[in-house]
Amino acid sequence: MNVDLRSDTVTKPSPEMREAMARADVGDDVYGEDPTVNRLQELVAGLLGKEAALFVPSGVMANQIALAVQTRPGDEVLVSNGAHCLLYESGAGAGITGVQMRQLGGEDGLFGASEVERAINPDNAHYPSTTLCAIENTHNRGGGRIFPQQEILRITEVARRRGLGLHLDGARLWNAHVALGVSLDSLTAPFDSVSVCLSKGLGAPVGSLVAGSKSLIARAHRRRKMLGGGMRQAGILAAAGHYALAQHLPKLATDHANARAFAQAIKDAPGVHLELATVETNIVIWDLAPEVPYDAAAFVARARERGVLLNAMGERRVRAVTHLDVDAAACAVAAERLCEMLKAA
Ligand SMILES: *Cc1c(COP(=O)(O)O)cnc(C)c1O
Repeated sequence: MNVDLRSDTVTKPSPEMREAMARADVGDDVYGEDPTVNRLQELVAGLLGKEAALFVPSGVMANQIALAVQTRPGDEVLVSNGAHCLLYESGAGAGITGVQMRQLGGEDGLFGASEVERAINPDNAHYPSTTLCAIENTHNRGGGRIFPQQEILRITEVARRRGLGLHLDGARLWNAHVALGVSLDSLTAPFDSVSVCLSKGLGAPVGSLVAGSKSLIARAHRRRKMLGGGMRQAGILAAAGHYALAQHLPKLATDHANARAFAQAIKDAPGVHLELATVETNIVIWDLAPEVPYDAAAFVARARERGVLLNAMGERRVRAVTHLDVDAAACAVAAERLCEMLKAA
């Protein structure tokens, strides 16, 4: 049996979720007449403490819409090192949204208010205008790290003083919320726009939302249409989101416990460099020590032969992600197989 730890996007809709999708009340959402989509937008806007939210097909679209409605072509956006909106959106920031990005901070995806302050360009025609700062919480490449809220508040102070907008890429904000045990709206309060994914740890097949003020979401609505993201009887998809929020949100705590147990089980295997303290949510990242005679790509290929599916995140960096469709026993089996593999290396 394969244990698929490549991503929390691999989860499949359960029979109960499919049932809820089949029963969804629908209408033409381009006319604003899909009751299930409208309810989801209201629910998520409320959870995130924003005036309005917009249902979109993907997190990439949610991020790019948020960037587009708060910048002008040629502007500079400050992002974290290895930010999703820079690294994993096929160049949409440059190619479609028309902004350039500057990376701040270290490999954990965290940065400080002083770095933001220093990175803002002077108001001088030589430089691109720095108009937006985007924070990713939790941070994917950083290994699911939670961005410290105290630092977000300090960054907010700089952003307000210097006239920058603030975007939160909250694809996995649900995980930060559950891990910290603090309300979603307290995490989102500093931000002008927030994007969240239903298709990661929450286990819906499709869907993200972007949230913000009424006027921001009105502009987002137009932008979604421009990008081809206007959907018709999308209530079938939104119903999966309702189900996921009601049934799966609390289960993220199990994913976090499983990630921690998995990390604990492999951290002393020969050739594994893993800082247990960095495992805050459902992502485990480790480096292969120089004595391991193959790189991350070969490690991932060998693990696959043993029925453990992982992703390489760099030349010697490997990532495992826990999710709804792998339980504690499956994670233990995966860890055991990797330990055996490393002992034989
Ligand atoms: C997955 C992800 C997204 C959006 O990806 P989609 O596959 O388009 O839904 C955005 N930001 C982060 C941090 C992500 O992990």
